[in-house]
Amino acid sequence: MVPTTNRLAANGHAPAKFWQNATTYFNRVFDELQLDNNWRSLLATPKRILTVSCPIRLDDGRIQTFTGYRVQHNNALGPFKGGIRYDLAVDQNEVMALAMLQTWKNALVGLPYGGAKGGVVCDPKTLSLAEKERLTRRYTSEVMPIIGPEKDIPAPDAGTDSQVMAWLLDTYSMMVGHQELAVVTGKPVSLGGSVGREEATGRGVMYVLARFLSTVHKSISDVTVAVQGFGNVGYHAARLIAERGARIVAISDRFGGIYNDQGIDIEAAGRWIRETGKLSGFSDGDEITNEELLTCDCDVLVPAAMENTVTEDFAPHIKAKLIVEAANGPTTPEADRILADNGVTILPDILANAGGVTVSYFEWVQGLDNYFWDKPRVDSELQKIMERAFEQVDTIANERDCDYRTAAYGLGIGRVAEALRLKGLFP
Ligand code: GLU
Repeated sequence: MVPTTNRLAANGHAPAKFWQNATTYFNRVFDELQLDNNWRSLLATPKRILTVSCPIRLDDGRIQTFTGYRVQHNNALGPFKGGIRYDLAVDQNEVMALAMLQTWKNALVGLPYGGAKGGVVCDPKTLSLAEKERLTRRYTSEVMPIIGPEKDIPAPDAGTDSQVMAWLLDTYSMMVGHQELAVVTGKPVSLGGSVGREEATGRGVMYVLARFLSTVHKSISDVTVAVQGFGNVGYHAARLIAERGARIVAISDRFGGIYNDQGIDIEAAGRWIRETGKLSGFSDGDEITNEELLTCDCDVLVPAAMENTVTEDFAPHIKAKLIVEAANGPTTPEADRILADNGVTILPDILANAGGVTVSYFEWVQGLDNYFWDKPRVDSELQKIMERAFEQVDTIANERDCDYRTAAYGLGIGRVAEALRLKGLFP
């Protein structure tokens, strides 16, 4: 079995596997939907890969050099857009895969963006705040030539947050000589960030889940849910789903999880993790491993951790009949096949977790306009976009008699291919 508790030890080759998975899904959809073969290699290839080295001075006076990446996958539909990840397992293959998924995601929900992703190989938990600031400022200055409000707009991803985005904003603004709000999203609200951005990915997961359940004449209060991963996405998804009446029977972080068939108090678990740094010791249930969480008794499984967690080892044992992919790339293509054979429905990543980049888009628009929306407007416009995307994917899945992943990827890839066809090639 592949343990998910220690990502590095478990997945020595995971990033390479992740890029392979993203390409496998891409080719599978390309073949199934018989898209125009002329565009295959162009669509499958990142437009630009920048590797940077970021030397910083540590608090103890030593100098350490960190490796960073920015991969710009495709910009046929608009400026590049996508998050920045701080994690020890970041490598070029992982960032390439994430950038490709971001391209399909942005196209699928109809945002005027291409797809990109960035990453720095570091352990954000062991860096001091001051070290993290120096690293962020150096990384920003190294990728400066290729980012900008009309070029490429970064945002948070795993291991980064609104504080990191504030440093990025400041570094970029200092270098261009004026405040440039629209260069980055996911900023603190007091610095031109959008209200609702922090919870947006989790909120989008909840909207897509509710809209899917309505197609089978159910509502959120009818289901039990297990959530793997209790970072920003997992926490807010669990909280908002619980608020609408579902029982959250299992949650986990990277060290392990808890199970309680009566339902876990998510707000209390959130407070516990903020105070102690991990779930372990939270007494509202029985301790389980991350592996046990994946295969526990529940109606809906929400993988909200990292890529490659739902593998062929676990897929045959998964009891949930619905998987909502809140993480990027959690299900391997091998597991995807097994789950399809077992009649498990999957709401794929690029649909289910698109709420974050959607509110990032709202933030970018607000920054360009210098006019800021209130929370009800952000939430209702997010709901509209998430439900529209689900409905378009559902229609294709019904018409073509295919699964939701094929329909969602097909729609996203098809829109990018159409933009390329209309623009033609330069020169
Ligand atoms: N990193 C997030 C994602 O995976 C958000 C990207 C953004 O807001 O630009 O979609």
